[in-house]
Amino acid sequence: MYREEILLQNYQAVRSSLTQAALRAGRNPDEITLLAVTKYAKDEDVLSLLKRGVITHVGESRVQQAWARWHEDPRFAQFAQVTKHFIGHLQTNKAAKAAVLFDFIDSLDDIETARALAKHAPAGKVLNALVQVKLTQKQTQSGLPLPQARQLVKQLRGAFENIRVCGYMAVAPQGASENELRTLFRAVSQAFKEDFADCPGAALSLGMSEDFEIAVEEGSTLPRIGSLLFESKLEGV
Ligand SMILES: *Cc1c(COP(=O)(O)O)cnc(C)c1O
Repeated sequence: MYREEILLQNYQAVRSSLTQAALRAGRNPDEITLLAVTKYAKDEDVLSLLKRGVITHVGESRVQQAWARWHEDPRFAQFAQVTKHFIGHLQTNKAAKAAVLFDFIDSLDDIETARALAKHAPAGKVLNALVQVKLTQKQTQSGLPLPQARQLVKQLRGAFENIRVCGYMAVAPQGASENELRTLFRAVSQAFKEDFADCPGAALSLGMSEDFEIAVEEGSTLPRIGSLLFESKLEGV
């Protein structure tokens, strides 16, 4: 099978699982946007799916690599309208480039980074931001525990004219059971409903390749899928 067909099959399989999960939870599948995580994907693979018109939102976790691809590579220039999300840990010294390149910063977890983004965003641009919630005790995980994340949302509201805080993002702890995942996702989902009820287009980004179905059942509007889209299940393809 050609690589392009495999990618399209992967996409269709993910899309169909998303739809099923939404329907199981009594949700409208149309309110769920697939965020294609392209950070490990080959350029050719990303271009294949872009040409098919099936991906509209992409996620990158390294500013430099994303810049080279989405800002400098002429093959990507015709896809400038794709919504670009930064999903990694943002160092303040990369904020200037990030503010130019990305439409969404999904991993905001401190006010200093927000300040740097606000300072460097091009004139007239409003940068969307999700606050990252931390779901484990691990020191190495980015994000803030839920109560502090909610506090940061309050602080950020109206603090910068060109930063629009519009949701939460969270990464589930590895090895968590289904019940643990549901409990964690549900808490963020509840906070999201309370904090962003008055916010049109707000996003709740929960779920990755391993756990997106549970995340969608618990209310995710923006699951982030990398390996299921871009890894082939067949050997040697
Ligand atoms: C890499 C990454 C993903 C995608 O993970 P997969 O398991 O490959 O789907 C999602 N979210 C974040 C924050 C990531 O860094």
